[in-house]
Amino acid sequence: MSQELEHVKCLIIGSGPAGYTAAIYAARADLKPVLYTGMLAGGQLTQTTDVENFPGYPNGIMGPEMMEDFRKQAERFGTDIRFGYISSVDFSSAPHKVVVDEATTILADTVIISTGASAKWLGLESEQKYNGFGVSACAVCDGFFFRGQDVAIVGAGDTAAEEATYLAKLCRKVYMLVRRDEFRASRAMVSRVLNTPNIEVIYNSEAQEIVGDGQVVTGVRVLNNKTQEENTLDVTGFFVAIGHHPNTDIFKGWIDMDETGYILTKPGTTQTNIEGVFCCGDAQDNVYRQAITAAGTGCMAALDAERYLAAKEAAELELHS
Ligand code: NDP
Repeated sequence: MSQELEHVKCLIIGSGPAGYTAAIYAARADLKPVLYTGMLAGGQLTQTTDVENFPGYPNGIMGPEMMEDFRKQAERFGTDIRFGYISSVDFSSAPHKVVVDEATTILADTVIISTGASAKWLGLESEQKYNGFGVSACAVCDGFFFRGQDVAIVGAGDTAAEEATYLAKLCRKVYMLVRRDEFRASRAMVSRVLNTPNIEVIYNSEAQEIVGDGQVVTGVRVLNNKTQEENTLDVTGFFVAIGHHPNTDIFKGWIDMDETGYILTKPGTTQTNIEGVFCCGDAQDNVYRQAITAAGTGCMAALDAERYLAAKEAAELELHS
């Protein structure tokens, strides 16, 4: 007995600001989008506390509440939102085959990838405990809460260097914990760090524990891996900037990516190397990584999908006339 496969016009994978914005635009364009949330429904913002830099919320908003608003707005225009994750894809021909939860196959005329990226963490128990209460993986999002205070940042790549200089403008003192005796960041970024008077770089250092009073961060215990000496820095903020991992593994082999797994799109568009497959948000952006930029590219992806379908329909009509 053959089972009839579900066929959708527009399938959106991921439920962060990019995915939900794509859904709002696609639903309003009558593409009847189906959106799969992934395992972390709402995306990275559900793991933060206050969001103060998203336009339209003059008093700020909690991350989870904001994502709830995104979801409701996408639902209001008829997006079919489903809890589930995409386990594999087959983009060898149109319509594209997408397998949900290793069980159900869906055929999609257009696919919008908005699977985001995940920040890498050190893996300390105390880091998890104080996440959102002094521990953050985004200086641009949370630096403002530590104005005039002393903070520490771990990492030695371009992101860490950029975030340390960003924090130095807001904070009294920034300790930069570098695990080796040198940076990975580009020379220009390193020189910017070294020329910022309120950044103190501590080489050969490893954060052992984030210290707190049970509510918020009060310090970080640091090991010098050369001398084995330990000391505690009094800081109220602890920033982790050791890289991100784009959630794009399931698309490997189909979609063109850079060497770290970020999806490549045609400049100025969200078009991937596969016709009808678009990508938006952090899965294709290792530079800006903001909710607002993700939402912006989500809008672009829905418009690109709509135009692609319209052009395809027009071509088919012409063929049959
Ligand atoms: P990277 O992978 O380049 O750097 C990660 C850094 O974190 C490394 O210095 C690494 O140390 C350190 N690290 C990793 N794990 C640990 C750990 N457990 N404890 C302590 N330190 C750790 O990531 P980035 O996010 O910095 O950059 C990603 C890419 O994006 C790069 O190609 C970068 O050039 C680019 N980028 C460009 C920017 C720009 O052009 N403006 C801005 C930001 C990023 P180690 O060096 O010892 O391995």
